[in-house]
Amino acid sequence: MHAHIRPQPGIMDIALYQGGTSKIAGRDDVVKLSSNENPFGPGDLARLAYARAGHDLHRYPPTDHAGLRAALGAHFGIDASRIICGAGSDEIISFLCQAYAGPGDEVLYSQHGFLMYRISALAAGATPVVAPERDRTADVDALLAAANKRTKLVFIANPNNPTGTMIPLEEITRLAEGLPKQALLVLDGAYAEYAENYDGGAALVDQRDNVVMTRTFSKLFGLGGLRVGWGYGPQHVIDVLNRLRGPFNLSNMQLDIAEAALGDTAHIARSLSENARLRDWLAEKLNAIGVVTDRSFANFVLARFRDAAQAEACNAALLSEGLIVRQVGSYGLPEGLRITIGDESACRRVAHVIGAFMESQQ
Ligand code: PMP
Repeated sequence: MHAHIRPQPGIMDIALYQGGTSKIAGRDDVVKLSSNENPFGPGDLARLAYARAGHDLHRYPPTDHAGLRAALGAHFGIDASRIICGAGSDEIISFLCQAYAGPGDEVLYSQHGFLMYRISALAAGATPVVAPERDRTADVDALLAAANKRTKLVFIANPNNPTGTMIPLEEITRLAEGLPKQALLVLDGAYAEYAENYDGGAALVDQRDNVVMTRTFSKLFGLGGLRVGWGYGPQHVIDVLNRLRGPFNLSNMQLDIAEAALGDTAHIARSLSENARLRDWLAEKLNAIGVVTDRSFANFVLARFRDAAQAEACNAALLSEGLIVRQVGSYGLPEGLRITIGDESACRRVAHVIGAFMESQQ
């Protein structure tokens, strides 16, 4: 660190985020299954909007995102005036921490929670606090026990990354009801669309003044590279977040493409059904050869091996066959490999390589 010019306390506690690669030198059959992206990419309507984009590059984008918010409101059956859009849900998470947590405040989340909660809490000068989980699933009793008068934000991803597990809405409601009055509960629904019969907590947001939901176009909609996410919350929270949102935080192109993607029902249906079919197929294959998985409600499975060394060896075997998955030691699960559900050929390759690897271990 520089002798005189120093960042705010907390910033140097942030480990640099390790982004995933999609390339392996010398191979042209590489499949990236490490970032929970939709293997089909964007749908036709989003691609068309992308091809048409650019006619208004000299114009500043609208600051109120009215078009995209109206489309989101209609698509999800929610109140468009209580939606805020950002550069990925990461930006909404960051706004929430900046707005509600500072030095002396605590930001609470569950063990094996998404890395951005810690990063955004530290960036805001607040203290990240981790509650123990149970069976790789958030434990509401542990979260309630860890909450105190300094707790300002509580994050819970449902379904959770990197475990794929989820907790029932009754448990989330119990958490919202039991938290201290000054704490805001954030339901991170990055994978909510993949969980059948789950609204991401939208109805709970409508019932309470201490619950916010975050969502994204990066997963089901196949637009991780576009960087569009959004939040839905009580009016008092959306008003606060809008004050610190840069007026032009989303470009014309981002807004147009995201809106087009929402209307692509064929792409959405195909992505969902293929994911469910291949996720269950892959989990069954893995279980049959002695690799343990929890039931996943998302677009990935967490494969758990005997120990970190075995996971590492399997990761190396996958890499040598051009398959990039994510070893999740940074989430405190070094014995796990998080495998995004790719297309059918990718899933078959993964099952084949892990099958051969497990046989070599006997
Ligand atoms: N929440 C969770 C649980 C995630 O896994 C991710 C993506 N890795 C995000 C939020 C952020 O996604 P984005 O910023 O692309 O919307």
